[in-house]
Amino acid sequence: MRKRLLAVTVTRAPMQRTLVELIAAKRDGLPLSEQEIQRIVRSFTDGAFADYQMAAFLMSVFFKGLDDAETIALTEAMLHSGTVLDLSSVPGIKVDKHSTGGVGDKVSICLAPLVAACGVPVPMVSGRGLGHTGGTLDKLEAIPGFRTDLPAADFARIVKDVGACMIGQTKEIAPADKRIYALRDVTATVESIPLIVASILSKKLAEGIDGLVLDVKVGKGAFMKSEERARALADKLVRVGTRAGKKVVAVLTRMDAPLGCAVGNANETREALEVLHGGGPADLVECTMVLCAEMLVLGGRAKDIDDAKAKLAKAIASGDAVRVMEKMVAAQGGDASVVAKPSLLTIAPVIVPVRAARAGVVSEIDALAVGLAGVQMGAGRTRADQAVDPAVGIFIDQKPGAAVASGDVLARVVVRDTGGADAIVARVRDAFTIADAAPKPAPLVVGRITG
Ligand code: URA
Repeated sequence: MRKRLLAVTVTRAPMQRTLVELIAAKRDGLPLSEQEIQRIVRSFTDGAFADYQMAAFLMSVFFKGLDDAETIALTEAMLHSGTVLDLSSVPGIKVDKHSTGGVGDKVSICLAPLVAACGVPVPMVSGRGLGHTGGTLDKLEAIPGFRTDLPAADFARIVKDVGACMIGQTKEIAPADKRIYALRDVTATVESIPLIVASILSKKLAEGIDGLVLDVKVGKGAFMKSEERARALADKLVRVGTRAGKKVVAVLTRMDAPLGCAVGNANETREALEVLHGGGPADLVECTMVLCAEMLVLGGRAKDIDDAKAKLAKAIASGDAVRVMEKMVAAQGGDASVVAKPSLLTIAPVIVPVRAARAGVVSEIDALAVGLAGVQMGAGRTRADQAVDPAVGIFIDQKPGAAVASGDVLARVVVRDTGGADAIVARVRDAFTIADAAPKPAPLVVGRITG
């Protein structure tokens, strides 16, 4: 038998697709592996995958989508582009809430202290307003001295000592999301469900939470205009979040009209504080209670939703929720006296009424139009680097279903001076539809999705 002269086994690395081939694969609707998605995000953060390549990839995802495995891989890759906050020193099941954004949505400000007062720790990393939707950080910063840029160690300490802390996204939290979101914003790829899911969950998972309640808004003033799209987003958020090992519940709530009566920053914070005192408009109270109740159940502090609602009512009646808010504001450097007396929050001096042009019943208030009027008056921003004016805003005096006479005050715009107020008044008036008959009553909560 002839002897083999050479017995070398050559082990080749499996052929790796190039980054361009990965873009082409997604463009053609082919799946990418977990490792390939990790490679795209890693190469993007270290500079090997250029912004224009990421933009092309995002557009291919926009058209071809990502399945759940790919979405999980993208979420995890974006999450691990930064650090996960260490909240191991905080005992208990830590639960946060995220809203997909709307007009007049100040729920987080009353929700966090209320849930914490019932024994569930709430570590909350919030965002700023962009476009027609407001942001919790802008509203909180209407409180003199309130700091939202705390270091991670202070964040963990305040959650442990007070029960709740509300800060902004730090440089360490999902930095890949920050850059990818900026590209999505200028490449018309924001409205992609898998990209929204990875963006939201990468940031939320970085908070070190155990559970998450999602308020997925649907309607004119929301990202998701149709119930079908909102449900698809909520389903995917819950599936991906659950597969990432978290307890997740999504609630679908209507965002056709502004939530509550105040739109702006200081005036929204005032209204949220009123909820902690047992007041506040009915729709805002309902939205807050529904989401808080889900958090109490996820956090193991209530056996069911009814039990949770009873505990929440007690925390308001006893003053416990107000006390937690006072402690949180003080711990974050703010003037805690505004909690007992929300009217201390400064609003602009000129108030101009918006009057009804005819008699009838308010059948609709277009949240998008009201939100855009808010941006125009300086309460919101059109670019991420703009500042907001905390003191200006809009009060809605007549909610859908209210009967009005011609000349009645529908809303009030709060401005620093009368210059430019006429245009805002006209815009807010146009946001109201006054009909002959009352609108069909529409429930605020339109769905609930669990893992
Ligand atoms: N909010 C986020 O954080 N990301 C999105 O993509 C959309 C809403």
